[in-house]
Amino acid sequence: MIIDTTNEQTQNDKIKNYLISRNINFKEVELYEKNLLITSAKITKSIFKDQFENVKVLNFDTEYQLSTRKFKQHNTEIKLTDDIIFGTNKTVMMAGPCSVENKDQTFKAAEYLKDKHNIKIFRAGAFKPRTSPYTFQGLKDNGLKILDLVRDEFDVKIITEVKDSTHLKEVSEVADIIQIGTKAMFDFSLLEMCGKINKPILLKRGFMATVKEFLQCADFIISNGNCNVILCERGVRTFETITRFSLDICSAAVLKKISHLPLVLDPSHAIGLSEYVGDIAVTASALGIDGLLVETHPNPEQALSDKDQALSFEQFTNLYSRVDKICKAVDRNLI
Ligand code: PEP
Ligand code: MN
Repeated sequence: MIIDTTNEQTQNDKIKNYLISRNINFKEVELYEKNLLITSAKITKSIFKDQFENVKVLNFDTEYQLSTRKFKQHNTEIKLTDDIIFGTNKTVMMAGPCSVENKDQTFKAAEYLKDKHNIKIFRAGAFKPRTSPYTFQGLKDNGLKILDLVRDEFDVKIITEVKDSTHLKEVSEVADIIQIGTKAMFDFSLLEMCGKINKPILLKRGFMATVKEFLQCADFIISNGNCNVILCERGVRTFETITRFSLDICSAAVLKKISHLPLVLDPSHAIGLSEYVGDIAVTASALGIDGLLVETHPNPEQALSDKDQALSFEQFTNLYSRVDKICKAVDRNLI
C-alpha cells in the first residue's frame, strides 16, 4: 500500500506518529517529487478518520504499482548527461563485448564504437553470471579497472553488471548504469540494495519471469528509494530451441503502455546468433524503444563468453545503419 503525504508535508510527522500508534510499519521514500510511506498493511483512507485531508492512499488493482502509469502517468526520464537521456525521443545505443577479457580487447571495441559510431554508452561485464562453473567468470575487480580506463580514454559512460550484492559497492563506483542480469532479477536483497543507491539500474527480465513478476521486481527497487529504473527485455525461454531465447516483443509493446519506465531491448541475448542480431535490432527499434543493448567483439571467434552472438565490427556497423533508418522512420534519434 502506498500513502502519499506530499500535500500534507507540514503534517508529515503527525501522520507517521499516527501510523506508529496503530502498529503500522512503513518506510518513507521520496520518489518522483512525492513523499511516500510504503506499507504492507492493508489500509484505506478511512483509517485517518478525516484527520489529514490531503493524504492519499493508493491502491491499484494490480500487484505492481510504482512502476505503472497508474501511479505516474508520464514517462520517467533518466538523464546521464544533457545528451544521454532515456525516456524521451532518443534511442540510446549501448554496445560492447559481453565480457571485459583484457585491456587490449576492451580498448579495441571501445575505440571502434566511439570513432566509427560515436557510441555514448559502452557495455561489458566484469562479473559474469555464467551457467557453467567451468567457463570464464569475468575479470572481476580487474575488469572494473579496465572499464574505468575506458571511460576516461574514450569519454563514454559505462554500463556493467552486478552479479550479486557482494560486489555492488565496487560495481557502483565504476558503473554509470548498473545492470542486473536475467538470472539475478529475483535476487531480492540485491534489488533492495540497488534501491538504496542513487544510480540508474537497468533491470533485465528474468528469462522465466512473467511481465507481472518483472514489474514487481522493478517495484522492489523503486520502493526502496531509487526511481531510476530502466526495464530491459532480453528474451524469454520458450519451447523453441533453434534460437537461444525468444524476444517477447508482445510484452515489450505492453510494457511501453503500462509502465512509465524507459524500456530497452537486448537483441543479442534474445536470439543468441550473430547473423540475426541485426534483424532483431531493427524489429525492436520499430517499436520506438528507449535503447538497445548489443554485443560486439573485435574477434568474435575468440570471445570468452557469448561468442555465437558476438557481432564483428562490420556486422555492428551494418546493424547501426539499419537501426538508424528505422529510428528516423519512427521519429526517434539514435544516439
Ligand atoms: C549480458 O548482458 O552479458 C548478460 C549476461 O545478460 P543476461 O543477463 O540477459 O543473460
Ligand atoms: Mn553476454
